[in-house]
Amino acid sequence: MNRKTLDWGKVDWDGLERDLIARRRDLHKYPESAWTEFRTSSLVAHRLEELGYDLTAGLDTVEFSAVMGRPPRSEIDAHIQRAKEQGGDAGWIDKMREYPGVVGTLRTGRPGPVVSIRFDMDCVDVDETKIPDHRPNKEGFASVNNLLMHACGHDAHTSMGLGLATVLAAVKDDLKGEVRLIFQPGEEGCRGAYAMTRKGVVDGSDYFLAMHIGGGVPSGKFGLNSLGYLCTTKFDVEFTGRPAHAAGAPQEGHNALLAAAAAALSLHGIAPHREGSMRVNVGVLNAGTGRNVIAGKALMKAETRGQTQNIADYVYKRAQEIIQGAAAMYETEVTVLKAGAGTDAAGDAPLVAKVGEAIRESGLFQEVLETVQGGGSEDATWMMRRVQELGGQATYLALGSNIAAPHHNGCFDIDESTMLLGVKALAAIIDKLMQ
Ligand SMILES: [Zn+2]
Ligand SMILES: [Zn+2]
Repeated sequence: MNRKTLDWGKVDWDGLERDLIARRRDLHKYPESAWTEFRTSSLVAHRLEELGYDLTAGLDTVEFSAVMGRPPRSEIDAHIQRAKEQGGDAGWIDKMREYPGVVGTLRTGRPGPVVSIRFDMDCVDVDETKIPDHRPNKEGFASVNNLLMHACGHDAHTSMGLGLATVLAAVKDDLKGEVRLIFQPGEEGCRGAYAMTRKGVVDGSDYFLAMHIGGGVPSGKFGLNSLGYLCTTKFDVEFTGRPAHAAGAPQEGHNALLAAAAAALSLHGIAPHREGSMRVNVGVLNAGTGRNVIAGKALMKAETRGQTQNIADYVYKRAQEIIQGAAAMYETEVTVLKAGAGTDAAGDAPLVAKVGEAIRESGLFQEVLETVQGGGSEDATWMMRRVQELGGQATYLALGSNIAAPHHNGCFDIDESTMLLGVKALAAIIDKLMQ
C-alpha cells in the first residue's frame, strides 16, 4: 500500500493474513446467536485490551430498555457457561454482565476526525452442512454448536475488525483523532444495533462505516454505498384465549388457535403500497395443547418490511390492526412484543466520494461499484441515521467475496483471501479521512 499519512511499512501484512484466517476459523467453529456472543465478545475485548484500546463492554454498550429479541433470561446462564467452556475469556465474560458487545476506542490525543466502524459478531440459526467437500468440514473448523452456523460471514467481519485493530495499533503514532471499533451483537433479525445506538455508541462520530462481505458481490469488487435495505419490524404475538372441552363445552372456549390462524391469513393479504415494495411474513405459528381442547394459547412470529420507512410504518400499522381485529373476533387477549427492527439509510455523497478515492488509489480491487443493492434488512442503518442526524456522514460498504452458497444456507462459505483486502480497504479509507 502507498504511504499517505500512515506508514503501512510498520504492519506485518503476511502475519496479519494468517491471523485473519485463523481467527475467522476459530470463530466459525464456535458460533453464537444474537445476544449470546459471550465467547466472541470476550475474545474481542481480550485482544483489544492487549492492543491498548480503551474498552467498553457488555451492559455498558447497550441501552437496556431498547434491547429487542434477546432470549429469555433463563437461557442466558447456559450460553455463558458454554462460552467459558469453549475458550472464552472468563474475566471479560463476567465483566459484561450478561450482555455481549464491545466498543474499542483508539484515542490519539491529536485533533482529528472521529471515525466509527461497525462489525457484527452473531451467527445464523441454521445447521452447517455435513457434506465432506464443504471446506469447514474438510479442514476441521465446522461449527460444533448444534443448529448454529456462521452462514452470513460475521465470523469474517469480527476477524477483520480485530485485524484492523492490529493495523491501527501499529501505526498509532501517525493517527489523528479517534477510531472507534464497534463490535455489535445480534445483527441477524435486526436485534442489536438499535440498543447500542440508543446507548450513544456512535454519538460524536464524524464518519461512520459498516461493511458486509459477499452479498452477491464477487471477489475483486468493492461497493462504496449499499442501498436498498428494507425497513423492517419483527414481532412476537401471543394470543391468550380460554381452553374448554371441544365437544362438551365448546361455547365456553375462546379459541386462540383460530384467532392466530385468522390473523396469519389476513396479514398476508395486506394491500400493497403504491410508493414501493413491501413484505409480510408469518414464519412461526404454534398453538394448542390437545386434540380435544379448544386452544387457549397461540404464539406467532412475524415480520413486516417496507422499501421506505413510510411504507414500513403503513404495513406495520395495518398488521397491528389485523392482529387486534382477529383477537377480538375470537374473544382472546393479545400482546405484541417487538423482537427486532431496522430502518433504511443511504450513504452521504461527500463521504462516498472520499471512500471511492481511497479505494481507487489503493489499487486493491479490479472494479469499484458506486452503489450496490443491499436487499434484506440491516440494522447498522440505525447507527448510520443517528450519525447523519447529528451532522456526521455514513456509508455502508460491500466487500466482494465469492461465496459457496447463498447467505444463511448451511453450505455458505467465503473466499478467505478477501479478508486481507477488507482490512486494507478500511485502513486506506481511514488514511484518507485523516488527511
Ligand atoms: Zn445475515
Ligand atoms: Zn450478515
